[in-house]
Amino acid sequence: MYPMPHECGFRSPGEQNVPPLVGAAGDSTDTNHHPTRHRPRAARRPGDQGVIPHGIMFHHFHDGHHPAGQGSLSADDLRALLRFVGRGRILGAREWLERAVAGRLEPGQVCLTFDDNLRCQYDVALPVLAEAGLTAFWFVPTATLDGGVERLELYWQFRVRCFDDIDLFYEAFFRTLATSVYAERVERALRDFDAGSYLAQFRFYSEPDRRFRFVRDEVLGPRCYQHVMDTLIQSMGIELRELARDVWMERQHLCRLQAEGHVLGLHTHTHPTRLTELPAAEQLREYRDNYMSLLALLGEPPTTVAHPCNACTEETLAILRGLGVRLGFRSHLAPGQHSELEFPREDCANLLRQMRCGGAPHQAVVEPAAS
Ligand SMILES: [Zn+2]
Repeated sequence: MYPMPHECGFRSPGEQNVPPLVGAAGDSTDTNHHPTRHRPRAARRPGDQGVIPHGIMFHHFHDGHHPAGQGSLSADDLRALLRFVGRGRILGAREWLERAVAGRLEPGQVCLTFDDNLRCQYDVALPVLAEAGLTAFWFVPTATLDGGVERLELYWQFRVRCFDDIDLFYEAFFRTLATSVYAERVERALRDFDAGSYLAQFRFYSEPDRRFRFVRDEVLGPRCYQHVMDTLIQSMGIELRELARDVWMERQHLCRLQAEGHVLGLHTHTHPTRLTELPAAEQLREYRDNYMSLLALLGEPPTTVAHPCNACTEETLAILRGLGVRLGFRSHLAPGQHSELEFPREDCANLLRQMRCGGAPHQAVVEPAAS
């Protein structure tokens, strides 16, 4: 099947055979604990007090066309944030990749990363990167390139387009939930819920955010959550397809990114919210389909990944290594990086908050001396 013609107008650089795929390599299902195999030089020195190299993670942007919502940035927000971080510390994506793979990243060096293939990133953030002479990593779920929809993103669009603020959405969501078949289950689960400890590593979430995410992810799970959301959306007379307009980048956008020196990487094909709860064969299919789509589109194999919703186990990492992936990112800064596929990332929401409070960037990224 491969090599095959790709769609960016570049010639395929020689053989594009898909590397052999590997199966499960461990029995751990703990997403946060792995035996140490590799750590970048800058984070490995004993007693290193430096700020460890990491990515800065972006999702939504807004302008006159793309709606503002929880956590979204304007072009000016991005400009200010780049100044706050310090332009000199930010490496272009290809340089960061080369240095990371060679173990030559220095403390404090950062890169920019954009998840989820969002058109607002292309329309709002890309011109700012061009002004600053910067390139970034873009992590692309590929199902939407073939007309698929990624429901989590559509639900975000629904929240920001149809409600004046997030609390009004939460009210409507819990009202719908209270009349659903899940009402009793949710009520029982919330009796013991401790908002202070749930998702504690994501510091920017409010108490209602944590409560909503707990119900969505721990009590309902993807299928029942979808049922509740679709019921709510339908009750308001809104079509999912309407919400999908101009949400995702298309092939020509990704081709331009590649032509301008950005690095495009894996993020699974359909972006499951709980990847590690899928059997190994399904995780493999998610990444293999994602890999095949990007290979066909770009004419070169992707070698980077960002774990969707931070989900990965040893099993996932083995699948990624089997695909030839050399660099990966988590979605938080929890200390202790365990491999080259688990570089930490700072959510831009944390940086914006520090910037607006007059703090210093990356206070929380210092590697503990004892680790
Ligand atoms: Zn994602």
